[in-house]
Amino acid sequence: MRYVTVLGATGSIGKSTLDVIRRHPDLFRVYGLAASTSVDSMIESIREFKPKVVAMSSQKAAVELLKQVKELKLPCEVLFGEDGVENLAGDGSADIVVGAIVGAAGLRPLIAAAKTGCIIALANKEALVMSGTIFFETAKKYGARVLPVDSEHSAIFQSLPFDVQENLGFCDLKKAHVDKILLTGSGGPFRDTPIKDLELVDAKTAIAHPVWSMGPKISVDSATMMNKGLEFIEARYLFNADDSDIQVVIHPQSVIHSMVSYEDGAVMAQLGNPDMRTPIAVALGFPERISSGVNRLDFTKLSSLTFLEPDFSRYPCLKLAMQASKSGQSATTALNAANEVAVASFLESKIKFTDISRVVESVLCSNTCKEPESIDEVLSIDENARKSAADYIGKLNG
Ligand code: NAD
Ligand code: MG
Repeated sequence: MRYVTVLGATGSIGKSTLDVIRRHPDLFRVYGLAASTSVDSMIESIREFKPKVVAMSSQKAAVELLKQVKELKLPCEVLFGEDGVENLAGDGSADIVVGAIVGAAGLRPLIAAAKTGCIIALANKEALVMSGTIFFETAKKYGARVLPVDSEHSAIFQSLPFDVQENLGFCDLKKAHVDKILLTGSGGPFRDTPIKDLELVDAKTAIAHPVWSMGPKISVDSATMMNKGLEFIEARYLFNADDSDIQVVIHPQSVIHSMVSYEDGAVMAQLGNPDMRTPIAVALGFPERISSGVNRLDFTKLSSLTFLEPDFSRYPCLKLAMQASKSGQSATTALNAANEVAVASFLESKIKFTDISRVVESVLCSNTCKEPESIDEVLSIDENARKSAADYIGKLNG
């Protein structure tokens, strides 16, 4: 029996994780659940999964949750605020901590979890984008193991040999005779939209992804392909890869979830229906395969599988992320923070879709922070970049 804590339990990945857990009462027990504001959804999950501890990062939501937990006589402890989430993640009672908080907010709790030596099932790519080296060094020091939940990284992981899988963060791709990691992406909802019309797209159309059903932030990131840029950086840290080891390929049908090409010409790929419960089940069950509830892929019903190169004039955010990746951890942290601020403004209709890349570019150009050596330094770069993004947005609107 493995005890699981789900950080970001009320979101898209959190709910899919709970659905996989629901199917395996013999394998998993929920120890802890954390979320931000969704009290009703949390109460529902407390009733079903009976966690020992829950945490809400919003103080107001935590007060409301505690009130309802008492009224309903639910036997669980309620922790308050960001500290509560971090304390739950780091209390050492869970064998597996699922990192499914969205954005930079996930970083501190995940570092706390890494210090307990647990298995980290990682969906929260922003945490790695901000702190890759420090994150893996912390995990190594405390004996924690990171397993990817992001579908592309899970596909790459599944296409790599066992000794690489056993040594994520420090593996040697050359020794494994890997020629290239082929990171696939659908190209998002605006793959075929005339570039001149992108200026006019609104938040509602941007979050209607053609293939995947996801939270609002990652849906916008998929439309700009910043998501693929963040995944490019995530892949570098997970697989200890150089920039030149990774190639981004657009694959609109999202049937192949990424590939690894080897020196002998063989290409290993992982295929399946686009449903996050597969990579979640891979991470929760590893090294065993467990059922996930995902429908089988029916090859006779598939149309063609197509591939194309990304056009950087359509996806400037992808290019900016690849440039930041070359510059280093300070740049990738600034990129991530600027993107979070820009996406939030776009979702509130305060800036245009095409302004997102402008905000990120301006923050990257003005970032002079040195390479971070601690999580506090990472968070200070993050804070500076947020301020500079907000200033730029103010000027855009002023
Ligand atoms: P979402 O918006 O649906 O859910 C986010 C969750 O995080 C919610 O439960 C929310 O309450 C919680 N949260 C936010 N701030 C918090 C805080 N400070 N403390 C505790 N909880 C907090 O997002 P999502 O689509 O599930 O994505 C979650 C993460 O997984 C993101 O990093 C995303 O990039 C990654 N991811 C998502 C998908 C997908 O298909 N949705 C695929 C791959 C990777
Ligand atoms: Mg992905």
